[in-house]
Amino acid sequence: MVIIDSKIEEYIYDVAKQTHGVLKANVVSELISQLNCDKEQLQQALLPIAAKFAQAPISSFYVGAVVFDKITGCMYLGANLEFKRQALSLVVHAEQAAINNAWINGAQEITSIAINAAPCGFCRQFMNELSSAGTLSILLPNGRFTLTELLPCDFGPSDLGNGASLMSNEAADVDVNLPISDALKQHLRHAYVPYTSNLSAAELVLKDGRAFYGRYAENAAYSPSLSPMSSVLSQLALSGIELEDASVERITLVEKAGFENQKSVAQAVLTNLQGAAPLEYHVF
Ligand SMILES: [Zn+2]
Repeated sequence: MVIIDSKIEEYIYDVAKQTHGVLKANVVSELISQLNCDKEQLQQALLPIAAKFAQAPISSFYVGAVVFDKITGCMYLGANLEFKRQALSLVVHAEQAAINNAWINGAQEITSIAINAAPCGFCRQFMNELSSAGTLSILLPNGRFTLTELLPCDFGPSDLGNGASLMSNEAADVDVNLPISDALKQHLRHAYVPYTSNLSAAELVLKDGRAFYGRYAENAAYSPSLSPMSSVLSQLALSGIELEDASVERITLVEKAGFENQKSVAQAVLTNLQGAAPLEYHVF
């Protein structure tokens, strides 16, 4: 087992806060060399750092997950995010946070995910939406598993006649004539919405100018779908900012006219942001 000493841990935590939980390929290579370990050992050694980004005011159960993407060579951290005084079904699980982080930041083929606790059934189902679900390695404290081992007799996208998958990164060919940033338009085009067709994405800008993005990621079992507002708040949490401390300049939610289903859930989770600007809401 690889142990990261406190000095290196502090360095990695600082880097991760700057990059919203993304460890670039050169940082990954440098750490593998410095710690004299392999990629999967590094993923597992990073779990306590990933778990430091958890915000769990309800459970006090801090979960970390670390995803590796074969194409970018980067590692992406994730942690659970709970919302006070809101339905438990709205929380973001660490595995969702890590996969969302990878997806938002350009990953294309996740080959492994390390988690510091067994994934719940909801997360096994969320992972089953990945383009790499059939080959994914799941690294747990008690060994390595395939998703087929953890989710036998599965229900997945093909059961609903969906040939697409999360992480295929196909962009919808739509014109968006709205007064919103080009970055938000791009995230909107990359939302994964095979079941409702509601292209939806969110942007959060802090008073210091830092911007965060979230996209709607649907799931064949519906309930594990990740809303764009939860997605963007998870990205904010991965920069080390507590929701209650965020100094927010602007929050924008966009969805597709005639298919809208995200406004009320966005307003629900936003009650956890103190002093945030009102939600700017657009349909196109
Ligand atoms: Zn879970």
